[in-house]
Amino acid sequence: MTTVDLTITDAKIVTEAEIIEGGVACDDGRIVAIEASEELPEGERVIDAAGEYVLPGFVDPHVHLGRRDLGFPEQLPIDFETETRGALHGGVTTIMNFIEHGDPYLPHWDRFIEIGEDRSYVDFVHHAVISHEHHIGEIKGLIDRGVISFKMFFNMYKYHDIDIEPCEVDRVLRVLEILSNAPETIAMFHCENAEIQRLMEQRMRDAGRSDLVAWREASPPIAEAIQVDQVGRLTKFSGARSYAVHISSTEGVDTLARYQAAGVPLVGETLVTFLVNTADEDIGVWGKVSPPLRDEQHQQRLWEAVRSGVIEHVGTDHIATSKEVREGGEGKYGNMWDAPPGIQPGLEFFLPMMLTEGYHEGRITMSRLVEVCATNNAKRFGLYPRKGVIAEGSDADLVIVDTDATMTIDDDFFHTREPRWSSVHGREIKGLPSHVILGGEIAIHHGERLVEPGIGKYLTRGQAK
Ligand SMILES: [Zn+2]
Repeated sequence: MTTVDLTITDAKIVTEAEIIEGGVACDDGRIVAIEASEELPEGERVIDAAGEYVLPGFVDPHVHLGRRDLGFPEQLPIDFETETRGALHGGVTTIMNFIEHGDPYLPHWDRFIEIGEDRSYVDFVHHAVISHEHHIGEIKGLIDRGVISFKMFFNMYKYHDIDIEPCEVDRVLRVLEILSNAPETIAMFHCENAEIQRLMEQRMRDAGRSDLVAWREASPPIAEAIQVDQVGRLTKFSGARSYAVHISSTEGVDTLARYQAAGVPLVGETLVTFLVNTADEDIGVWGKVSPPLRDEQHQQRLWEAVRSGVIEHVGTDHIATSKEVREGGEGKYGNMWDAPPGIQPGLEFFLPMMLTEGYHEGRITMSRLVEVCATNNAKRFGLYPRKGVIAEGSDADLVIVDTDATMTIDDDFFHTREPRWSSVHGREIKGLPSHVILGGEIAIHHGERLVEPGIGKYLTRGQAK
């Protein structure tokens, strides 16, 4: 019998469709066989999974590395190294990063790829954010470079001191028209109405409020639903396809469902944070996200939408922000209005929290969990079947989980640059990766990292689903 690089025996192999009891053989970075453990070829290295689940590495569709407020692209190599290090420890083996800057992208695109290939611990692609008028002229060139996903902040942030030009219906329509002529592409939208948000925020400020619930009240569900509704109409009108990022509310879900029932190609994503946190927790500015954390009823509706298929994608919206920047020197209960929004370090708690709050709480099956956190994300953005699935021929990106391992999330949990705060600090988790395998290499072994930065590769993409 021929020998392969690695075999994993006595596993419960999870796919979107079924759970297969047996083993996986990996060779030259790929999965070469899935069969009964005793039928596997001989492995140079063998991991006995001892009856545990083996999942495809998670594929995070929503990551922000190299934020402009930290210096761009100077911050990009730093973020690539520190944030993907946490991703790898957490079992996320592919990330999709948003390139977002006021400069043109095409002259720097090779550099964005090089930086990742130089520093990343996980495989990656870049989405392009159409934040400025001149980016629209770059779409065709970016498509030629294999970029198939383009994000817009639809209406939101135009009253904020942030380098994103106002993006209204006319701009959205012009972009969708271009994308409708490139069937491999998909438009992504941050859906939040800036006028409602500004009005409500002013009322909260006038009332002297500066707490996490006030942040929630400052962007009520209608602000999300109004924008999702417009995206649905514009998607139908233009013939393009759209993806609503980080849906947070019942109203957002209901609006998505209405367009989906009418056959409009509009799909939805939610965030692990929306599934595990609410604004009613005592987490202060650590819980500030845009759109905001809501309450338990909205959260239940999100889980239901993840189960039913109205929401097909779960991601993190990971942004690396230091504790000092996040708190503005005022501590965890500092001024809500001045704190930058964004979740950190979602990449590393993504998989453990989905196991804890999803699988163990009986909100989602293991197969559906894999589907929404890996398989669907790979399919949607042109990476399937190379990524997101345990199948012959796919990349050998695998996570063996210790389903019953417990831990409290604290500063020692994280391997990202800033371990000292997160929206889940103090939470008990149940379910952790024991082994993370990237491209057939054992990268994390019981918490110990065995690989160097630069192991991650830029991925070429096929057609978006
Ligand atoms: Zn985001």
